[in-house]
Order: sequence, then structure tokens, then C-alpha cells
Amino acid sequence: MGRIVLEKVSKTFGDVEVIPPLDLAIEDGEFAVFVGPSGCGKSTLLRLIAGLEDTSSGEIIIDGETVTEVSPSKRGLAMVFQSYALYPHMTVRKNIAFPLRMEKMDQSEIDAKVDIAATSLNLTDYLDRKPGQLSGGQRQRVAIGRAIVREPSAFLFDEPLSNLDAALRVGMRMEILELHNKLKTTMIYVTHDQVEAMTMADKIVVLQAGVIEQVGTPLELYRAPRNLFVAGFIGSPKMNLIAGEEAAKHGATTIGIRPEHIDIVTSGGVWEGTVSVSEHLGSDTFLHVNVDGIEEPLTVRSIGDIAVRHGDKVSLSPRLNELHKFREDGLRVE
Ligand code: ADP
Ligand code: MG
Repeated sequence: MGRIVLEKVSKTFGDVEVIPPLDLAIEDGEFAVFVGPSGCGKSTLLRLIAGLEDTSSGEIIIDGETVTEVSPSKRGLAMVFQSYALYPHMTVRKNIAFPLRMEKMDQSEIDAKVDIAATSLNLTDYLDRKPGQLSGGQRQRVAIGRAIVREPSAFLFDEPLSNLDAALRVGMRMEILELHNKLKTTMIYVTHDQVEAMTMADKIVVLQAGVIEQVGTPLELYRAPRNLFVAGFIGSPKMNLIAGEEAAKHGATTIGIRPEHIDIVTSGGVWEGTVSVSEHLGSDTFLHVNVDGIEEPLTVRSIGDIAVRHGDKVSLSPRLNELHKFREDGLRVE
């Protein structure tokens, strides 16, 4: 079990309210991702749930029990950090076994649990090594193994992959997802990377300045961002946001259109523009197009082998059924 509920939880450091009162429910077995720019309060929120910070107000409830005043070790949660925090002088086996030794569990039981964790993390061949003899990805797996043996009701991950290089990050992302499929335990995963959020989450919680901007599945957020912040934050490259007269035509203060929802047409486009930069990625090409009357260049996604370069004129046609409309206060027009 691992249903986590926050009721009117807030956090103030000194006289700075980092997290105004918020409500949130993470369901048992869910993979929830807290995402938002650096400094928005993701780690603070996770630490409040873990009990590493005291709440300034509100209640935290795990599986129906109020744990707001309960010490971290008694909450049944396990946290994995960006810095692996392994003991360098201990072997992998001893590092993973560490929390169980603290509980004074029988050695035979410890060995069995360590073996199971090591198997599910492909660490069996490394149990006698020390952390210094492992790659970054393997070290992070050891840190996860140390969390697994505690059999927590939920795992809390704080940017666990930030220290790894890009290729390794993609691999570890898949491993953590496979682990979630296997264990079916609640996981809360903090990241500033919206791609990680989109690819991993059952439920994304978008935060800005300690405020929850939207909660939903990746596709809900992609298809119907609640406000301009979420519209600009979710999706890569970013959604084009256009204000002024062009938006007024659609009865909005700002309209949004994603790069993949603008077609390049031979004639009869809505916007005529000049290509400033074309980024050829092989699979796709991203064109940055200057259009008269639109302040920012529009980003347009096209096929990989389009023969368009700097200075070329193009005619653009937005798919009107994919248009997002926002009011003056930034909220989506339904
Ligand atoms: P994130 O993890 O999203 O980058 P944090 O939760 O670490 O953000 O921080 C949110 C805000 O709270 C930041 O402005 C940070 O400076 C502030 N903060 C975090 N911890 C403390 C603390 N112990 N004392 C004072 N301010 C803090
Ligand atoms: Mg953080």
C-alpha cells in the first residue's frame, strides 16, 4: 500500500512562503512526477512527504494514517537522491544491506533480500565491489537497491539521474520504469526535465513557485494545458505562443500552436515567412520562421529531408483544430 495525501500542506522558511497551502493525492501504485523549474519547491515538497522537513501547516496522510508528526524512519518510505550517498569503504552487498543491518535483521534474511534486490537491478556480479569500482549508473542502482530492501510503501526519487550522461539517463529511465512495473509500488519522482516527466509519469504534477499549476496524465497536459505556464513548459520544442492581433482573430489574448501542428504548404497558407534557422536532426527538421506581424519566430516541425534553408520563403498553415486559446489572465479558454 502507498496512498499519499497532502491536505493544505505549506512550508515557510523564515518569512518566505516557499509552498503556499496545497492539496494533492498520489494513488497507491502510481508513478507520479513532480516537475518544474529549478527552485520551484519540488525537493521541499518531497522532503515534507519524507519527513525530512517539518510542515508549516496542513496534514500528510499515508494509507489513511496521519504521519505529519511521525519521524522519517517510521513513515515506511525510501528516498533516493541525486548524490548516491553510498559508503565508499563498504562493498555493494554491505551498502545494500545497510538499512537491514540497522534494523538488526537476521543475517540469512538480509542475504536473501539483498540477493533479490541485486537480481532485479542486474547487480549480482558486482556485489563484492566497492562503489569506487562502479560506473555512475551502477552506483545509482546500488542506491536504489538499498531503498528496495526496505520494502517501502513508496519510493521518493529526487533527480536521481542528474549526475549521469545523456545516454545513460535514457537507459536508467527505462530501468526505473521496469522496476515500477515489477514492484508496483508507489513512486514519486522529482525532475526539472519535462521529457523525463512525459516519458515516465502516470501522473504529472507541474509546479511553479510552490504552486501546483496542473495535475494530469502526460497526454492530458500535452493536449489541454490549463494555462500559459504549462503550455510553455510541457513539450519540446516549446509550443509557439502568439499574442496581439493574430490571437484576437480567434477571440483570445494568446494563442498557442505546437511546432508539429503547423504545416508547410505550397500555397494558401495563413502565414508567409522567411526561414531564419533550419535544424536538421535527421528524423525531423525544426524550422525557425520569421513572420510579419508575429513578434517571435515560429518553430515548425517538418520531415527530416526537407530541402529548406536559411533565407527561404515558406507558407505556413496551422491546424486550427489544434489551436490552444488563452485569456488575458493566462488561463485556457475552454
Ligand atoms: P527545487 O527542488 O524545485 O529546485 P527547492 O525545493 O530546493 O526547489 O527550493 C525551493 C525554494 O526554497 C528555493 O527558493 C530555495 O532557495 C528555498 N529553500 C529550500 N530549502 C531551504 C532552507 N533550508 N532554508 C531556506 N530556504 C530554502
Ligand atoms: Mg531540487
